[in-house]
Amino acid sequence: MKKQEMEQLFISKYGESAEPLRIFNAPGRVNLIGEHIDYNGGYVFPAALEFGTTLALRKRADRKVSFASMNLPYAAELDLDQLGKEKSGEWIDYPVGIILELEKLGARLSGGYDLLFQGEIPNGSGLSSSASLEVVTAYALLSMEGKETDTVEIARLSQRVENGYVGVNSGIMDQFAVANGAKDHAILLMCDTLEYKLVPFRTGAYKLIISNTKKRRGLVDSKYNERRSQCDAALEILRKREPGLEYLAHLQPEQLNEWRGDFPDEVLFNRAKHVVEENARVLKSVDALTANDLKAFGELMNASHDSLRDLYEVSCLELDVMVEEARKIEGTLGARMTGAGFGGCTVSLVHEDAVDRFLAEVGKAYLERTGIEGEFYVCGVGDGVHEMKGEN
Ligand code: ADP
Ligand code: MG
Repeated sequence: MKKQEMEQLFISKYGESAEPLRIFNAPGRVNLIGEHIDYNGGYVFPAALEFGTTLALRKRADRKVSFASMNLPYAAELDLDQLGKEKSGEWIDYPVGIILELEKLGARLSGGYDLLFQGEIPNGSGLSSSASLEVVTAYALLSMEGKETDTVEIARLSQRVENGYVGVNSGIMDQFAVANGAKDHAILLMCDTLEYKLVPFRTGAYKLIISNTKKRRGLVDSKYNERRSQCDAALEILRKREPGLEYLAHLQPEQLNEWRGDFPDEVLFNRAKHVVEENARVLKSVDALTANDLKAFGELMNASHDSLRDLYEVSCLELDVMVEEARKIEGTLGARMTGAGFGGCTVSLVHEDAVDRFLAEVGKAYLERTGIEGEFYVCGVGDGVHEMKGEN
């Protein structure tokens, strides 16, 4: 969304006023590689996308906060001093939660605001429209109030809102990527410590294609919990050899292979093998991207998917079909599932000249093989949360 368009939308909704109108934007995100290793002490490697959530806002003379979105019909005008007395169960719980959290941190709003949101991220597709909504709200309100905008702190407080106020259990990767992403970079992140590094990711003539399987995800929670306890069990076994081992991902692949005989069954060993090797693949990806070797990175993406499918067993027919078809297109460097699995999206790295063919052929084959109409989003790597200034 262009800045000027957003200004017009805001004025036609709320009218003119002498108060300055400012426009902010936060992106969606995709995890490029490093799946199911955050809770095992490994790195995730997300990137911010070029599309996101725009927020236009302006101070009001009274103490009311008005919430409206171009995407959803529900709107509300609430008294700042009564905010959060009751949760609405509507989308405004996200920005209301942010205002309450800012208040807890000593950044109580000085007065009312008119807010208008416009989102380009499909909701509920795993591209983190909720994190984008939270982060843009926090960043914009802190900026308007003349307060410091520390993007690491904004990620933390946004995650607290999602977990606590909204009540959705999730790690911090989404909010962190949305808040701290940068154009032409991916983010190497250790979720526990928030130690992070921006790594150059110059996609050049290549695009990311995110393919939504549109598969309803039923089993995610129970399977996720099962994987976590399998990892704990594997860690217990390994600690007999290495008592100080804190996390699975801290082990080297060669070491794990040496101790294979300690595992009573193949399943636990395979889970551990995925974790250890996936973490190694993330670190190799950092090297590949730093050397601008997209081909090598594509191969790591492929290996990641195969490991999630065969060793960690969190893929499903739809994800596998999407990945298989994507890899058939000449110009695809790599394709893998992204997210927890059992549905959701895949991410592929595809030459721009092959994008049209990809969309036509993968879409057709996917429909034929699964009976589901997939959805495809083509994008580059964008900036983290920022104020939109000047022309764009
Ligand atoms: P995801 O984060 O994967 O897109 P979630 O279910 O976590 O999916 O978050 C989607 C919810 O976030 C929507 O149902 C809505 O409540 C809220 N949301 C996201 N973007 C917007 C927007 N532009 N306007 C209003 N609400 C939004
Ligand atoms: Mg979400």
